[in-house]
Amino acid sequence: MSDTALIYDQVFQEHEVGRSHPENPSRLKAIVSGLKSDPKTSKLLWHKPQWAREEQICRNHSREYIDLVRRKVAAGSHSLGFPDTGINARSLDAALAAAGAVLTGVDMVMQGLAGNAFCPVRPPGHHARHFMGMGFCIFNNIALAAWHALDKYSLERILIIDWDGHHGNGTQEAFYHLREVFFFSIHQDMWYPFTGKKSETGQGKGKGTTMNFPFPAWSDGRDILPVFTRHLIPAMEQFRPQLVLISAGFDGLRGDPLVRLGLDADDFSVMTRIAMDIADRYSDGRLVSTLEGGYDLNGLAECSIRHVRELMA
Ligand SMILES: [Zn+2]
Repeated sequence: MSDTALIYDQVFQEHEVGRSHPENPSRLKAIVSGLKSDPKTSKLLWHKPQWAREEQICRNHSREYIDLVRRKVAAGSHSLGFPDTGINARSLDAALAAAGAVLTGVDMVMQGLAGNAFCPVRPPGHHARHFMGMGFCIFNNIALAAWHALDKYSLERILIIDWDGHHGNGTQEAFYHLREVFFFSIHQDMWYPFTGKKSETGQGKGKGTTMNFPFPAWSDGRDILPVFTRHLIPAMEQFRPQLVLISAGFDGLRGDPLVRLGLDADDFSVMTRIAMDIADRYSDGRLVSTLEGGYDLNGLAECSIRHVRELMA
């Protein structure tokens, strides 16, 4: 089965923390209208997610933190109280739907209902930690997807590729001591959230299953793409993942207002193809990708379309 599922819920656009905020509903409007008007993506399987349940969220987050999110949303607060965690009345629903979308994606590819899946969600997730949100993220969608695949499908080896321009600190932290989940990240060096040094490679049983490649500002595809061929592909010959997950942030695109990297739209196609080749080789093609950052609306839409076209190829 090689069809691509697009897992989307209108509630993703209802989470809003101010129109001038870079992480706003226009991001998804741009992606959705781009995908709907592109003849090459007309065969996408549009699918509504099953929202995540609290016991599923608990797999990666403390009960106290989940209670705090519920309390703050119910009270009409404008922030979770951590830096860069604005909320409104719809934020809990949007966050449950966002996590649920990636879980639904895992279910669809594991059950053969789709070959691969892309989940353009808000809020994003890769900065969210066990006990706190941060960096526009409430629940860690990609980490929850990996836990779901480990628990429900008894997988033993999962690869997470995080090509967002910021380091996915929350995801790394979730699996730092675990050998079952391999975390590979490229990101801008010395930039928010200031983690993801090359020397961070995992601990205990997880030693060697974390790989970080921080790049100086203005690095472009010629600098960044070679680490996929020189480091990721050989590592996967050893690891042999049974499922490939992508934290697909598009803020490494040249001109993004929040990151100073120089990737172009072609580079995102190339990275998608590399991830798919790994999935084809070891995972029967099973791949689930979810949106993280990306704040230049035109660039975000273009890169998302290129990503999805490649997933459908
Ligand atoms: Zn980012």
